[in-house]
Amino acid sequence: MPRLCIEVQGVVQGVGFRPSVYRLALAHGLTGAVWNHARGVTIEAQGGATSLEAFLRAIQTDIPPPARVANLACVDLPEDPQAEGFRILASDEGGDIRPVVPPDLAICPACAEETDTPGERRYRYPFTNCTYCGPRYSIIASLPYDRPHTSMQAFPMCPACRREYSDPLDRRFHAQPIACPVCGPHLTLRRLDGGSLSEGEDALHEAVVALQEGRVVAIKGLGGFQLLVDATSAEAVRRLRDRKRREEKPFAVMFPDMASLAAACELGEAERALLASPEAPILLVRRRPGAQVTEGIAPGNPRLGAFLPYTPLHRLLLALVDRPLVCTSGNLSEEPMAFEDDEALRRLGTLADVFLTHNRPILRPVDDSVMRVDGDGPTLLRRARGFTPLAVAVAGFKGAPTVLAFGAHQKATVSLLHQGQLVMSQHLGDLMSLQGADLLARTVEDLLDFFGVQPDRLACDLHPDYASTRLAERLSNEWDLPLLRVQHHHAHGAACMAEHGLKGPATALAWDGTGLGSDGTLWGGEALAIKGDRFERVGHLRPFPLPGGEAAVREPRRSACGLLWSLRGSGSPPPTLAPAFDGPEWNLLQSMLAKGLHSPVTSSIGRLFDAVAALTSLHARHGFEGQAAMALEFAAGDRVESPYAWDLKAGMANPSLLLEGVLSDLAAGQDVAFIAARFHTSLADLALAWTELSGLPDVVLSGGCFQNARLTGLVQAKLTDAGFRVHRHRTFPPNDGCISLGQAVVAALG
Ligand SMILES: [Zn+2]
Ligand SMILES: [Zn+2]
Repeated sequence: MPRLCIEVQGVVQGVGFRPSVYRLALAHGLTGAVWNHARGVTIEAQGGATSLEAFLRAIQTDIPPPARVANLACVDLPEDPQAEGFRILASDEGGDIRPVVPPDLAICPACAEETDTPGERRYRYPFTNCTYCGPRYSIIASLPYDRPHTSMQAFPMCPACRREYSDPLDRRFHAQPIACPVCGPHLTLRRLDGGSLSEGEDALHEAVVALQEGRVVAIKGLGGFQLLVDATSAEAVRRLRDRKRREEKPFAVMFPDMASLAAACELGEAERALLASPEAPILLVRRRPGAQVTEGIAPGNPRLGAFLPYTPLHRLLLALVDRPLVCTSGNLSEEPMAFEDDEALRRLGTLADVFLTHNRPILRPVDDSVMRVDGDGPTLLRRARGFTPLAVAVAGFKGAPTVLAFGAHQKATVSLLHQGQLVMSQHLGDLMSLQGADLLARTVEDLLDFFGVQPDRLACDLHPDYASTRLAERLSNEWDLPLLRVQHHHAHGAACMAEHGLKGPATALAWDGTGLGSDGTLWGGEALAIKGDRFERVGHLRPFPLPGGEAAVREPRRSACGLLWSLRGSGSPPPTLAPAFDGPEWNLLQSMLAKGLHSPVTSSIGRLFDAVAALTSLHARHGFEGQAAMALEFAAGDRVESPYAWDLKAGMANPSLLLEGVLSDLAAGQDVAFIAARFHTSLADLALAWTELSGLPDVVLSGGCFQNARLTGLVQAKLTDAGFRVHRHRTFPPNDGCISLGQAVVAALG
């Protein structure tokens, strides 16, 4: 009788893979065993040739939804005449990197059905989970991943749960967060002073009434507190905006079910699949005219960040409220999300009217992930719940030094590169606040503890004032480890190259707001030829001054003023820009520019977007980061217009002709859509000119500007038509969320 040794790699641990192998082996009458180890899962199986063949197919297809077989290799073994039964063996210890636990996963269809079925033990139980779904990363204190090491240690299993937990044929076999109404966590509705208003089902119903009355409910979700409010009520949304001091930045909306979401938004097949996936991200989708959500959710934005309830608690709540709800992170803008009860009561007391909380502690904050599908596939814009802490293989780094990389300053992440595997922390948000810097430090400790490795070197940005740089400097001293400083746009390009297994040389178009350049000026419109830890600046925008420096990030009108001054010298503002300045403001900026006071120069394409948005009267000031660029993208829509010309000398692109073109279109009374469309085409032209100048067949696109679907689509099409191989971010975000990855690979090569 044939006997096989089957090595399986992929997402195969902590997702019920071994129990399903066990069930399938029994179903096919095989003998043998299955066990976990550092690199994946090994199966030994003996039986008839046809049964083995069917079994091999089944373990790739007939497995739990979160499990994924990436690689399967078989070796023939000599027959074992004594073999009987099929067993799940204890994990093999050892190996280079500890086995990775899966991320927090959305409720699975089986658990959803169970909570919906009267008479079931877990009917309407908000903490139902199983091996295929529920909390993981957010509740683990330490490894190995078993119940005493999670925040479920405070809940001893009742006999019924214990039976399920111990039965290899049950879908809750070794489900560490297993719980039921008898032994598990329960809900409490709290006043702002922490006093209890009601418990269990009553708490749920009272929270529903509060939402229906337009009040703001803070809810303890899977990875932190969220603020909920009726998305169909303009007044309720206004109240939340006022309290959160968040005037225009779009809110995400959770819909009760797929049918209500599809009624409000246009969904393709890939979008439906993502929304219903175990990762259940917030998905940016096109809003239908007349959608049942108030305009104040995402003013002027044709897209909506939509998602589905991903915990039993959210499902129960949304079903009762029976309307879409704003569902946004529980924080004041620029601070990290609150995840502990006391902290939430303290920090969110001015934001929420009531707290729907529970007694299962969250041990680390994990935000909702954000994705978008366009053109030929999905893009991750924020990588957190559902993805962290999955390790991603990075080709070519097997024997490289272990690097801990500290990332950028906004959309911060930390990365650990070890033995060709990259583990990126969840999105940590901005590091402006003390809480943000604290979270960064805790996450660094967390990552090292979790994976049980010590770095050989550290990596950070060139910018000396980033909180991430300062932490890296401190730890480099404490641990006596070398610290490598990686230029921001080099890191962008290297991140996208690593994602696609490119060693270079490759051209990187790194376009974003700003990052510190190697020459001490602010870069952001770069074409770099990258090979390993080295790069050459092939092209860049001609630098222009930003009067007021940092203030220009919030005020596109300053970018417009600086750009005009650099190309035309002093003068009065064009008529479309003039209303953006009160009284002496314009002259003040002009004199700052003339004296060179507090006016750093930049080659940023993000700031060029700002300048054009201000000139076309879209936005003189930002309500949130990237707003002006988004407005230009939306204004352009799908329109294709002829480009403005560039004056390109030795890679330096002078935007003077572009600016003159915009001004003359404005003077001729052309509409914003026309100008925005021309501007986008011009940037695609510039991308091609730089790529041709660099002359390398592979091109990577990275930086916040490539969150712009219109720009990315145009650049990709133009470069592909010209015969270049274009690579975009897929697994990691194009924005500064990818910087720690880029730093890690550059430092590993250095
Ligand atoms: Zn489940
Ligand atoms: Zn129980």
